[in-house]
Amino acid sequence: MKVSPVCRRGRKENIAGSSKGRTSLSESENFGSIPSPAANRSYTCIVIGNLLKYFLFALAVSSTSTAAIASGPTLSVYPQSVIQGEPIEIVVQNATTSSVKSISFDGKKLGVFSYQGLPTAFYGVDINQKPSIYKISVALSGTTTLSASVTVGARQKIEMAFDIPESLGGNSTSSANTLVSALSQENAELLKLGTNPRALWTNKFTYPLSQIIVTDGYGYLRQTAGVSVTHKGTDFHASVGTPVMAMNRGVVRLAKRFTDYGNTIVVDHGLGLMTFYMHLSKINVSVGSLVKQGQVIGLSGQTGDALAPHLHISVRIGNISIDPLKFMAFFK
Ligand SMILES: [Zn+2]
Repeated sequence: MKVSPVCRRGRKENIAGSSKGRTSLSESENFGSIPSPAANRSYTCIVIGNLLKYFLFALAVSSTSTAAIASGPTLSVYPQSVIQGEPIEIVVQNATTSSVKSISFDGKKLGVFSYQGLPTAFYGVDINQKPSIYKISVALSGTTTLSASVTVGARQKIEMAFDIPESLGGNSTSSANTLVSALSQENAELLKLGTNPRALWTNKFTYPLSQIIVTDGYGYLRQTAGVSVTHKGTDFHASVGTPVMAMNRGVVRLAKRFTDYGNTIVVDHGLGLMTFYMHLSKINVSVGSLVKQGQVIGLSGQTGDALAPHLHISVRIGNISIDPLKFMAFFK
C-alpha cells in the first residue's frame, strides 16, 4: 500500500532536542491535533462571553506559546531500530537546509540535502557494523542541537550454497579462488569512484524495471567451494534484453565489463549515494553522462557470475552497500 510522505514521516520518531537532552513527542502532537489558537479563542468566547476578557487574554498567550514550541525544529529518524546492512533516513522538521550546520552519526558527518523541502541525510549501516546504540546529532545555526539514538541489531547469518557458472570454471577450488581474487579487484575499483558534492536528484527513487519480482535478497552468504561471499544487493527477475532504467537522476561514474559483475553501470546521485546495475547484456551510456530518472541506461542480461538472466542492484551510501529494498521503502 502506498503511504503519503506525510504519513511516512509521521511513523518516525519525532524528537524535540536540545544540548541538555531530548523529549519524545507523539505523532499526534507533531501533526496538528492540537486545536489552533484561533479555534481555542472562538470556543472560549461563546462559553464565557465578554465579561472574562482576562481569561481570554491568558488563553491567547498560552495558545501562542504552544504554537511556538510546535513549530521549532525537530528531528525525525526512520527507522529507530535497524539491523546490520540497512539504511537510516534522518530529517530535520521545521527547518531549512541552510540552517543545518551538520548532521552526524556516531560523530561521522553525513551529506545533507534538501528533500521535499526539508534538510535530510542518509546513513548506511555496514553489514559488519558493531551492534549497539548509536547517537545521531544535528547542529543548527546558533547553538541549538538536536539528538536521537538508533539501535543497530545483528543480522542473522544465513548461508546458502551457490554454484559458479561453467563459463567461470564451475565449482572447483581454483575457480572459486579466481572468482574471489577478481571480486576483490572489482570491488577495489568500485570503491574508488568519486561522488558529486551536491545531490543531483530531487524526485523519489524508482525501481529500475517496470515489473518488480525479487529473486534473491540482500545480506546472505553464498558458499562456493569453501569460499563465502556476501550478497550485498538485490536480484530481480529480468529476461535478457529487458530495459533497465536509472533509479534517479545522476552521473554515470562507471560503465564497463567486469569478470564477476559482468557489464556494470554505476550512477552517482551525489553525496555518496550511488546505484549499481550488474550482469547487463548491453550498456547504453558512457562515463560522465548525466542520466535522467527512468532513462533506459542498458538492457538486463546474464554476463559475469550469473547462473540465470537477472538484474542485480546495489545501493551504496558513503561506500556502504545497504539493502536496496529497505532503501526503496523510504520513497513509498
Ligand atoms: Zn545479485
